[in-house]
Parts: sequence; C-alpha cells; structure tokens
Amino acid sequence: MPAGAVIMEPGNSAERFTGDWRTFKPVINQDKCTRCLRCWVFCPEPAISIVDRQYTSSSGRAWKNSVEINYDYCKGCGICVEECEPKAIDFIEEVK
Ligand code: SF4
Ligand code: SF4
Repeated sequence: MPAGAVIMEPGNSAERFTGDWRTFKPVINQDKCTRCLRCWVFCPEPAISIVDRQYTSSSGRAWKNSVEINYDYCKGCGICVEECEPKAIDFIEEVK
C-alpha cells in the first residue's frame, strides 16, 4: 500500500487481504444462526456471505444455506459479534 494509504485505483478493496490485521476471530455457531444476515449488513469488509451449504441444526431444523466468514478479509473488528441478536457468533483469540 502506498505511503499515507492513498488509494490510486478506486474499487480495489478485494485486493487487500485485511485478515492479516486480526487478533480476535469471529466464529459463527450454525446451530444458533437464524440466517437473518444482520452481520452481513454491518460488516465493513466483504467478509460475510451466505453460501449454498445445507445444515441441519441439533433441533432438527434443516437450512438450505449457511452464513460463512471469509477470513482473508475479516479484520476482527467484532461489529458482527455485537450486532448478532441471537448471539450466534463467538469471538475467540486468533492463533497464528
Ligand atoms: S447476525 Fe447472527 S444470526 Fe444473523 S446471519 Fe449473522 S450470524 Fe446468523
Ligand atoms: S469481525 Fe468485523 S470484519 Fe470480521 S466478519 Fe465481523 S464485522 Fe466483518
């Protein structure tokens, strides 16, 4: 990145792997996740997405998709952890 973090070519955020900054890591508990995507709305990075991965919860509920975090871009800010109403995201110390 140039000195002063000047952006010379707009629209290049996907080239910046902000996951290197992380000291704490959000981990989604698929059993508690209601697929509301509130975390996706608030995440400042392109780090949260809904993927076509079926999941059956311990209570027997069958989901057609899962919400996942891309750790190449998750910088560990914790906003998703705060915004997740069912408290489905654990925030654990990163181990490198
Ligand atoms: S905010 Fe929480 S419950 Fe909603 S999709 Fe994200 S992890 Fe799941
Ligand atoms: S910790 Fe921050 S960057 Fe990482 S997924 Fe949550 S909101 Fe996005």
